[in-house]
Amino acid sequence: MIINGKEISEKRLAALKEEIKTSGLNPCLATVIVGEDPASQMYVRMKHKACEQVGIKSTGVVLPENSTTKEILAEVEKLNSDNLIHGILVQLPLPKHVDTEAVIEAVSPEKDVDGFHPYNTGRLFSGMPEFVPCTPGGIMTLLKEYKIETSGKKAVVVGRSVDVGRPMAALLINADATVTVCHSRTKNLEDEMKAADILISAIGKAKFVTAEMVKSGAVVIDVGINQDENKRLCGDVDFESVKDKVSAITPVPGGVGPMTIATLMENTLKSAKMHAKL
Ligand code: NDP
Repeated sequence: MIINGKEISEKRLAALKEEIKTSGLNPCLATVIVGEDPASQMYVRMKHKACEQVGIKSTGVVLPENSTTKEILAEVEKLNSDNLIHGILVQLPLPKHVDTEAVIEAVSPEKDVDGFHPYNTGRLFSGMPEFVPCTPGGIMTLLKEYKIETSGKKAVVVGRSVDVGRPMAALLINADATVTVCHSRTKNLEDEMKAADILISAIGKAKFVTAEMVKSGAVVIDVGINQDENKRLCGDVDFESVKDKVSAITPVPGGVGPMTIATLMENTLKSAKMHAKL
């Protein structure tokens, strides 16, 4: 089974559009981008386009590459205190000279639709999630939509980043899976991966996961966004060799990516509802 993230995302966005239309709310997302990284610019454009699609207002703060941490914090502070804005998204990565942790911590936890603020990661790890990071949140939605059981399953997450690997592990624990988190220092990585009923790869290495590394009948979720040898978009998983061995797999593109954006839209509406005390 090929898990069609694009289709599920479109379905969720259509439902969201209806809900927003009848809600009487005016949800608004603010993005902050620093510098001119083309990939970041593309992601921010896609987020604004999705806002337009579902009826969420959006506004963008664009700051030059040489902005100081202090200048960025001042912009975030303005957005925090603007009552018309419900969600704030600072596009990462920030330029190297910027104190990224300080910026993440400056976003009001109540507007933290990316779910990266330690308050929200703490809530997630305490089993009381409020704003869940969009990529792992979107993956949980995919698993639910495809009725993939997590309870009692052995889930292996490869990658321990703050935006994907760690929150993914927390969500799977909350969903009663038995979770192993692997990373670049993991010994016998292949054995760990082969034991997975549900394998989530969030490494960032083109076609790293091959058929020998996965168990027959496993569910494989590919988070990676990479370029192959022909400069074409591909995931962490060698899709062609793995797809016939597993019970379900997400393609790249069209798998996890669209769900990330749909979840961001859902988080923004959630924030607008919380601000309206609904
Ligand atoms: P990071 O670079 O922050 O993290 C990568 C993780 O993979 C690290 O924990 C690293 O280990 C681990 N890793 C790297 N190489 C290996 C290896 N050879 N064996 C085992 N573990 C390894 O990346 P992100 O988590 O932010 O993103 C991962 C991928 O997902 C990227 O391709 C990114 O573009 C993509 N992505 C896709 C999204 C989507 O919407 N589809 C959203 C976000 C990311 P260590 O900690 O030890 O260094």
